[in-house]
Formats: sequence, C-alpha cells, structure tokens
Amino acid sequence: MNGLMGRSALITGASRGIGAACARELAALGARVVINYAGSREAAESVVSDIVSSGGQATALRGDVSDPTSAQSLVEATVDLYGSLDILVNNAGITRDNLIVRLSDDDWTSVIDTNLSGVFYVTRAASKVMMKQRFGSIINITSVIGLVGNAGQVNYAAAKAGVIGLTKSVAKELAGRGVRANAVAPGFIETDMTATLPDSVREAASAQIAMKRFGTPSDVAKAVAFLAGDDAAYITGQVLAVDGGMTFA
Ligand code: NAP
Repeated sequence: MNGLMGRSALITGASRGIGAACARELAALGARVVINYAGSREAAESVVSDIVSSGGQATALRGDVSDPTSAQSLVEATVDLYGSLDILVNNAGITRDNLIVRLSDDDWTSVIDTNLSGVFYVTRAASKVMMKQRFGSIINITSVIGLVGNAGQVNYAAAKAGVIGLTKSVAKELAGRGVRANAVAPGFIETDMTATLPDSVREAASAQIAMKRFGTPSDVAKAVAFLAGDDAAYITGQVLAVDGGMTFA
C-alpha cells in the first residue's frame, strides 16, 4: 500500500471539492494534514472533524494563496505544526468565465493571481523547506482546459497551462534534491465549481467524455495520493489526466 504514515501535507483550498477529498484521502493513508481555506471556515473545520473522528490528524488554516506573505505563512505554519512539509497539494483555484472580448482586467488578474501566482508563491516557500529536507512531493492541480483550451476560459486556460510549465520546471530544478513535482489534470468533476453549469453545457461536456459522465472529487484524490507517496518514487514532471477519457489522443 502507498502508505503516508507520519508524512505532513499542506493542501490548499481544502475546505470543499477536490481539495477536501485530497485531504481526506491523504489523512486516511496516515498523513498529518493542513486544510487551507480562504473564507469557508466552517466547511474547513468540518473536514478537520471528519478526519480527527476517523483517527487522523488535521488542522484548518486560513490563508490566501494569491498573497505571497500569506502563502509563506501557510508553509511556515505547517512546518511549525508537524516539523516538516513532505507533501504539498496546490489545489486552490477559482473561475471567472467570459468570452475574451468581454473579459475584464479584474477577471483576468484574479484568476491568474490565484490559479498561477498562488501555485508559484506556495511552491517557492515549500521548495526551500523540501530542498533542505532533501525530500518532498509537490502535486499541482491543473486542468484538461490547460491542455486543450476552452471557449470562455482564456484566463483559466492560461493559468492552468502555466501551472504545467511551472510543474515541469520545478521538477527539473528539484529532482537532484529528492523532491518530485507532478501535475494532475482533472476533466469535469462534480464540485461547487461545476454545479452552476447550465444543463446544455453539462450535456455538451459529457458528450466529449469517453466515459460519458463527470468524475468525483475522490477520483482525483486517488491519483493525487498515488503521486504523493513512494509508489510514485521514480515519477516526476508528469501530467496525469483524470478525465474519464476526455482528452487522450
Ligand atoms: P471548489 O469546489 O470551488 O473549491 C475551491 C477551493 O479553493 C475552496 O476550498 C476555496 O476556499 C479555495 N480557494 C479559492 N481561492 C483561494 C485562495 N485565494 N486561497 C486559498 N484557497 C482558495 O473547486 P474544485 O472544483 O474543488 O477545484 C479545485 C481545483 O481543481 C481548482 O484548482 C480547479 O481549477 C481544479 N479543477 C477543477 C475541475 C472541476 O471540474 N471541478 C476540473 C479541473 C480542475 P473557500 O471554500 O474558503 O472559498
């Protein structure tokens, strides 16, 4: 089994959806987890309670990944709590969709700030810790949209494509220090992010998926847990699509 007993993990945006599923999965495998959230304190505390009542170790920490100081504090707080930072899951993300001709500067900037710069800020802080430890696994949640693009999501697609380039570069920089970096690219997953999609968009999306259905947060969390642990010890710089066969060539 890909056990994570005693490993410490920081999961950004873990109050809901994919991040919460990742936190539950890593904790079930024995990791001590930090559940980061931006505003949903109650939801984050409820993920913590679930994990603790199942015998795991978890703490909720508020922090905005798009703020470099806050990102640095999240990493420092994880190390203060658990004595190390072994696993980082950069999951926090937002959407602000619109066609390019209608996309405001604010909607461009906020998505880039959270989904791309946020990954950079947290990864930079974590890299210093992991390089010193000569051990660590970084998993960045990108999206199939970063691979194939999507009408109405130029900001999101640009950020997620940027995350892939960032992941591969970090993998090259840190491989010699025992630190791996991989990306997971979910397709359409049932979370708050996709809950508001109109039926017509859902149907069009499902038609593009070989398995003809949206995935679950747990489908993504299983892939993240695999990449986090020693079963993936020789895997770095990869992008693993978890998309029900939406994008394979
Ligand atoms: P979600 O249900 O909307 O949850 C988003 C999470 O990110 C929440 O925990 C939220 O915290 C947190 N967050 C947002 N901005 C933040 C910030 N500035 N700092 C810290 N945390 C922040 O989203 P999801 O569907 O689970 O998506 C998770 C990741 O998977 C995102 O990166 C998304 O782009 C990616 N993804 C999702 C899908 C999909 O179909 N759902 C597909 C491909 C990729 P609060 O609760 O406190 O607001």
